[in-house]
Amino acid sequence: MNTHPVCLVGAGPGDPELLTVRALKRLEAADVVLADDLIDPRVLALVKGRLLRVGKRGGCISTDQAFIHALMVREALAGQRVVRLKGGDPFVFGRGGEEVDALRDAGLEVEVVSGLTSGIAGVAAAGIPVTDRRASPGVILVTGHPGPGCAEPDWAALARSGLTLVVYMGVARCAGIVQRLLEAGMAPSTPAALVHAAHTPAQAERFGCLHELPALAAALGSPSLLVIGAVCAQGVRAALARTA
Ligand code: SAH
Repeated sequence: MNTHPVCLVGAGPGDPELLTVRALKRLEAADVVLADDLIDPRVLALVKGRLLRVGKRGGCISTDQAFIHALMVREALAGQRVVRLKGGDPFVFGRGGEEVDALRDAGLEVEVVSGLTSGIAGVAAAGIPVTDRRASPGVILVTGHPGPGCAEPDWAALARSGLTLVVYMGVARCAGIVQRLLEAGMAPSTPAALVHAAHTPAQAERFGCLHELPALAAALGSPSLLVIGAVCAQGVRAALARTA
């Protein structure tokens, strides 16, 4: 039986207009689509084949991941065109690397279709440029929830970096993260923002200072990004609006 390459497709942050042309083609051609929890319903509505929801909410992560690998391999070996649909970009906190390894170990070909990651495109939806030569020479994308087997980020080093920090999965541990940044010498008045459900109908954003982030996170909940750094300052955003 000839197999098709299994396709890991990035769905972008929400709005289906932010899918790449290639992502849309692969979605429409798929016999079966294995979709994560956070995929926007408007993107799921584009699926023409079988739609399997394989989100990990509330489950045992390792077992679920092994189950997803086995399901993809089984469907591909049965000759199906398999799309693994992941929020944002498949290789940014999406376990895409693990899935590629599992598929290649099973002798399958893999195609990766990059998507717009929420930490850039979602932050932009709140009017925040992740870099800006007037405010920040770079950006760090970091997880607030490293998970088993993954080292805790060196928050003190990040605090000293002078770069924009964009924290994924940071809502639940926001108070602890902010405390570590403050202990490392970051000013409590550092501009910060919380961007919730970017590029979806529920999008909300709040601006404040670093010490106010835990309250903002508690108010808006997940899925949200914590953004920390001078690019969040009202002045920078206002200046950008004037030059737009
Ligand atoms: N691969 C995804 C990230 C998956 S991790 C990407 O590239 O965007 C899940 C985390 O991403 C969430 O906890 C949240 O921090 C962030 N996230 C994903 N979609 C989001 C959205 N539309 N708005 C705000 N944050 C989002």
